[in-house]
Amino acid sequence: MTVICWFRRVLRLDDHPALVAAAQEGPVIPLVILDPLEARANPASAQRQAMALPDLDASLRRLGSRLIVRRGDPGAVLAQVVRDTGARAVHTTQGMPFASDDGLDRAVEQAGTRLHLHPPADLVPRGSVLTGSGTRFKVFTPFWRALRKSHIADPLPVPRLSAPDAWPNSDGLDWPEARAAMNRGWDVMARHVRAGESAAHDRLDAFLERVDARYAERRDIPADGDATSGLSDALAVGEISARRLWHKAMNAQHHGRGGVEDLLRELAWRDFARELFDAMPDMDRTCWRPEWNDFSWRGDSDEAQAWRQGRTGVAMVDAGMREMFAIGRMHNRLRMIAASYLVKHLMTDWRIGLDWFACCLTDWDAASNAMNWQWVAGCGPDASPFFRVFNPDTQAAKFDGARRYRDTWLVAGGAGARDFAAAAPLSWGVDARPVPPADLDRGRQRALDAYAAFRR
Ligand SMILES: Cc1cc2nc3c(=O)[nH]c(=O)nc-3n(C[C@H](O)[C@H](O)[C@H](O)COP(=O)(O)OP(=O)(O)OC[C@H]3O[C@@H](n4cnc5c(N)ncnc54)[C@H](O)[C@@H]3O)c2cc1C
Repeated sequence: MTVICWFRRVLRLDDHPALVAAAQEGPVIPLVILDPLEARANPASAQRQAMALPDLDASLRRLGSRLIVRRGDPGAVLAQVVRDTGARAVHTTQGMPFASDDGLDRAVEQAGTRLHLHPPADLVPRGSVLTGSGTRFKVFTPFWRALRKSHIADPLPVPRLSAPDAWPNSDGLDWPEARAAMNRGWDVMARHVRAGESAAHDRLDAFLERVDARYAERRDIPADGDATSGLSDALAVGEISARRLWHKAMNAQHHGRGGVEDLLRELAWRDFARELFDAMPDMDRTCWRPEWNDFSWRGDSDEAQAWRQGRTGVAMVDAGMREMFAIGRMHNRLRMIAASYLVKHLMTDWRIGLDWFACCLTDWDAASNAMNWQWVAGCGPDASPFFRVFNPDTQAAKFDGARRYRDTWLVAGGAGARDFAAAAPLSWGVDARPVPPADLDRGRQRALDAYAAFRR
């Protein structure tokens, strides 16, 4: 009567619909699959998931269970574990994009059992928040207003788990393919990550103790490390659910905590991204507004490579890119500035930037990444217009006036600069070559001229 629960980017016991359903059916084999393709496409995110596994295994062991880890193609691994254990069902969470589930059910059925897909514990089920005429929202603000009036389901408690008569073999908790694909400072990144379900809850609780009415303003200041929750990586690997965050935050608001409404609004962007991605599963490859597929985007180039390496000669951009490469995170304001510089000043195809973020971010999320890149590039449904070109120097003066953020990452000997030097491949020659300042006016004009031609 054994069933398998495949922990798929839901690396927690709390509010885990697939685990609850599995536990109701019989003894549960908790399974994680480390897919080499995922490790190659999203190495930092894969590393981040690997960091969460020891905590997940320890939590399961406290309940008399344990984590089974297998490496390989998910369909093949699932079929193999079903055959090894005679499991009568596999429960897991829908993939993102949902189309990526194609083929899994066939593989499981061929092994003689059924695959049950459960929705992720997002704020609302996909397609449940609709406009008055019953269509999906394409603009965030009305989506947010409708979501705010919606019922957000209570998180599910941790279920009781019973163990199978025998445990199948397990690989180790490490993910060597991810380590190899990262090809850089695993140890550097590890110093900046607090992995695990209980760490995510601690982070949220601490944040809800300190957040106040200045949240909306402070969240734009990159040197103000305490201004935001820092939970995007925990949400992305599923150490905490959006619903749990919502309900804890609502409770804090109920007790008079300021700034919570703005936090909830930010969190709603994540659901909005998923809504869009559900409506357009190739949103990470195709412009939402089809006419933008004909824009004269530039392909990969030395300039794009310099952008990846934090060597553009624009201090704010370089600082952000170095932060992301070294520690797998980048402040939201910097993401907007760095992305804007790539797609506008350098006129580079937004998908080139999207792929690099997907490679470097520990909080990589297919939907959030695609929505935000299309927002910056001006081709998304609810996007910043292309002619609005961020000036990175003006942004720096406004949000990093005292240079604290830039100095951390760019001045030799700064804590961030040391991390970056330790993480960057020698072939980049980061310290050796001076970076001449970029000509921002020229880049801006080139982008505007291209946009004018495109409109004509
Ligand atoms: C070009 C670009 C690419 C991005 N790629 C990703 C990505 O791959 N994964 C990802 O999680 N976020 C992405 N973001 C959004 C955002 O930068 C991060 O979610 C943010 O840095 C979160 O920090 P925090 O948890 O401290 O935020 P908080 O201010 O504490 O916000 C709470 C939560 O709200 C959600 N949130 C906030 N802003 C956004 C947003 N703009 N879009 C979607 N959700 C949001 C996040 O889940 C976040 O953890 C991207 C933004 C840009 C401009």
